[in-house]
Amino acid sequence: MSPTRRAFLGSLGGLAAGYALAPALRAAEASGKPLGLALCGLGGYANGELSPALLETKHVKLVAAITGTREKGVKLAKLHGFDEANIYSYDQWDKVAANKAIDIVYVVTPPGVHRQNVIDAFGAGKHVICEKPMAIAAAECDTMIAAGKKAGKRLAIGYRLHFDPYHQELVRLAKTQEFGPFMKIKSANGYTLHRKSWRIEKKLAGGGALTDMGIYSVQAVCMAADANPISVTAKELPKTRPELFVEVEQALEFRLEFANGAVADVWSGYDANRAELFAEAAKGWFKGERPVFSYRGLNISTSAKGKLDFGIFRQQQRHMDGVAVAFRDNQALSCSGEVGRRDMVIIDGIYESIRTGKKVELKYS
Ligand code: NAD
Repeated sequence: MSPTRRAFLGSLGGLAAGYALAPALRAAEASGKPLGLALCGLGGYANGELSPALLETKHVKLVAAITGTREKGVKLAKLHGFDEANIYSYDQWDKVAANKAIDIVYVVTPPGVHRQNVIDAFGAGKHVICEKPMAIAAAECDTMIAAGKKAGKRLAIGYRLHFDPYHQELVRLAKTQEFGPFMKIKSANGYTLHRKSWRIEKKLAGGGALTDMGIYSVQAVCMAADANPISVTAKELPKTRPELFVEVEQALEFRLEFANGAVADVWSGYDANRAELFAEAAKGWFKGERPVFSYRGLNISTSAKGKLDFGIFRQQQRHMDGVAVAFRDNQALSCSGEVGRRDMVIIDGIYESIRTGKKVELKYS
């Protein structure tokens, strides 16, 4: 290790504690090679967004797949040029462990199986990226984080917007308080869900529109408030399609309150195509109109700069490169497992408020 790099790692102090660099990572770093990533779950998001982004990443490359359908793995192997021997089923974690080309497992299965996949990936000695929502309850997140600590490996959540310059501008404004603190925040996120899938099965999705789409609003309002909410009050909205939404909510509303008096009002639903974000401070505002949380072409403006334009890029490329560099160089990550867990505490609180009809105080430890 170079003296500069040793000094850098040393300067991280407590931050780097517990994240000792694994030998495989050291080897990858020393040779300047990108880290190797295995996609676990080859559904719509993995094939439609992550695979194309992995053709553009510089610091991470697709080297393996974990899937229930081998043919899907073969297609990816051909596209990305990896050996078909690197295609595994969900019960071949011993082989994943033995494959030293894999540094990171990216879990892209339904939320109800995230916990098991993440624990298996840590058991195989790999770093993990886990899609949102991190799990279907905060208690599951505790087990997942503990498994990472035990393995000495790191966990990131698939919160791609942490690497998106439009949302980074929101974070910057919230942190610098250029407009003052954002005290009134509003957000909505949802779409019209027409067909049956795991998204309406409670044990696989954890909830309805909230765990799929409302979680983006939870993230955005915490960015705007630059804090974690202290309480939540929520109500479920009437179902107009009860035959589809048997196990989970169709739509809901909730209010988050913050210690400094800021308030965020949020709607999330599977019955309207909406995406909105408005954060107001004494000296200015940040506004997002559909699309606000999508993959590209975001429609974001601020009172100071008007409509923002950061050009064309793939959020997923930035996210995966950013996470890989943070894993490799022991840097802190804003899309950490702890932040994924924070959001599950809030989501648990929203459902508890709906169940009890009362305001719920949110406790994070
Ligand atoms: P999908 O249904 O298209 O794919 C899910 C995959 O998981 C399928 O290939 C399926 O075969 C596999 N799977 C493994 N175990 C399973 C099980 N026990 N039951 C059902 N399927 C199982 O779903 P998707 O849209 O790709 O979503 C996957 C994950 O990615 C979810 O956590 C979702 O929230 C997340 N996602 C994130 C974004 C984002 O922008 N970050 C976008 C879409 C989806």
